[in-house]
Amino acid sequence: MGSYRDYYRRSVEQPQEFWGEKAALIDWHRPFEQVLDGSRKPFAAWFRGGLTNLCHNAVDRHLAARAQQPALVWESTEVDRSRSYSYTELHREVQRMAAILQRHGVEAGDRVLLYMPMIPEAVFGMLACARIGAIHSVVFGGFAALSLATRIDDARPKLILSSDAGSRAGRVVPYKPLLDEAIERATHKPAAVLMVDRGLHPMQPVAGRDLDYATERAAVGDAVVPCAWVDATHPSYILYTSGTTGRPKGVQRDTGGYAVALATSMRDIFCGRPGGTYFCSSDIGWVVGHSYIVYGPLIHGMTTVLYEGTPVRPDAGILWRLAERHRAQVMFSSPTAVRVLKKFAPELMRQCDLSSLERLFLAGEPLDEPTASWISGMLGKPVVDNYWQTETGWPILGIAAGVEALAPKAGSPGVAMPGYKVSILDESSGRPVPAGEKGVLAIDWPLPPGCMQTVWGDDQRFVDTYWSNFASAQVYSTFDWGVADEQGYVTILGRTDDVINVAGHRLGTREIEESISSHAAVAEVAVVGAADAVKGQQAVAFVVPRDAARTADAQGRTELAAQIMQTVQVQLGAVARPARVLFVGMLPKTRSGKLLRRSIQALCEQRAPGDLTTLEDPAALEQIRSALAEQP
Ligand code: AMP
Repeated sequence: MGSYRDYYRRSVEQPQEFWGEKAALIDWHRPFEQVLDGSRKPFAAWFRGGLTNLCHNAVDRHLAARAQQPALVWESTEVDRSRSYSYTELHREVQRMAAILQRHGVEAGDRVLLYMPMIPEAVFGMLACARIGAIHSVVFGGFAALSLATRIDDARPKLILSSDAGSRAGRVVPYKPLLDEAIERATHKPAAVLMVDRGLHPMQPVAGRDLDYATERAAVGDAVVPCAWVDATHPSYILYTSGTTGRPKGVQRDTGGYAVALATSMRDIFCGRPGGTYFCSSDIGWVVGHSYIVYGPLIHGMTTVLYEGTPVRPDAGILWRLAERHRAQVMFSSPTAVRVLKKFAPELMRQCDLSSLERLFLAGEPLDEPTASWISGMLGKPVVDNYWQTETGWPILGIAAGVEALAPKAGSPGVAMPGYKVSILDESSGRPVPAGEKGVLAIDWPLPPGCMQTVWGDDQRFVDTYWSNFASAQVYSTFDWGVADEQGYVTILGRTDDVINVAGHRLGTREIEESISSHAAVAEVAVVGAADAVKGQQAVAFVVPRDAARTADAQGRTELAAQIMQTVQVQLGAVARPARVLFVGMLPKTRSGKLLRRSIQALCEQRAPGDLTTLEDPAALEQIRSALAEQP
């Protein structure tokens, strides 16, 4: 093992050589001509001219040595079932799925939208798309009709893969009615909808559009569908994420760079061993699920565990029992999951044999010190925080123990990972701030392989959103506040924009506001994220009703608050539903009419509201204060 300092320095000073070598971690059908094409800054094209395929690297290339090794293990505590697929069986299922897609006209470059619960067919669908060069767009199953419709219109899928229902904490959540409504609302209509019938909820097929997966699967038999060799820069998927506007952005990822970055991270950051088991308890609807349930572990020849269920059902020992059962070598979860488990008696965890486990990785939201020390004390193994975003696809900050096990620093996810030229910049001047001072976490061009290529269908938005925040230089903004110490350890201090993070789920406050505004009784609304002991943050909505009389008494307020929460749940999904809806007569704004979100948020967290020199009417802040004090 060398020193991390040398490894990192080489990655940023000689990116061509560094990544050129890492490219050998994956299979290429034809070698690339250039490691990095930087002719269109701030875009970066990695491994142009090289032909490869994500599915080949995740599945086919392991057949020679790992034919019988479990590739995908599905565990569901929702329906009390489990299934295991060896690499050979996964290969067969993916080809069947690919044959079905092809039968219904899906070709390379076409989009396929997945609105799926955590079942193996979701993984088959993703890999089948990759196999034929189609571009998948997985929409988290917790999103509702409006969110789904927006994504259908943006991605314009030729086919949608879905299922009759998911299940959450033992309760069936029908998907089909939401999907039908979303397609109804959307302007774009998919040619076909492929439904996996789990027998959880009756379905009404739409004639001429809906297909039954079991029937289709039987019809294609043991289909042989070769991998389509695509250019390294060919898009592999689109994954929508929230930002400052109400319109989610489609993060577009490439093929070759992503495979190389994941392979590198699996070895150098996650210290995964081919043949070992990787258990990530995230959801395939999020980036962590794409990278570290599906592609990363499989590219690395590991067994991946796909878990449908919560961390506390049937009891708070379930994650550890699954880790024990499958001899997990690496686990990946979220700080919220650990905080939830912390509330339960630790015996269930102590009863498990976790001798196979080497490391637990946590990401998606800030990891607080008490949670980190509780879980590492319980496990007696390293707990590794890592910081990244949907946009980057793999960690920006962390500890690359596969290179050198640098000592972790409490409260910090770690140091810059290979290829990320991280700096902390002054918000207004764009100049680097000294160690110990707060600034915006930025990344110099080029973003390393695996990071977003562009915003789907909107190059200009990519440049405007991410690369135009500082007049002094064209650098990528993460929209996170950070502070670095002398050794390069960075601590994350929250978002600079209106994005909030509820239980590791990223939500745009504007999207929630737009949904609430659609309720006829709402004149104006402000949504902020307020600190929450378990979920990190929760959404709180302050609503100005059109008719004040309606919320004059407690009953009226309760009724309208319930309706508003329901509106958000129906349009966007339960994940976006505000935890509290409070009523005020006006909202605090600047004289130019901008909402003072940071002040509202501060009051929610019982902090001083900050700089109020631009506040138009101080009475508005008073109303926020009294609403917080008086309304439940
Ligand atoms: P997402 O794109 O949904 O993965 O959300 C990314 C955002 O989550 C980042 O911009 C951060 O605000 C936050 N985040 C992710 N991981 C961490 C972490 N380890 N520590 C602190 N914040 C994090």
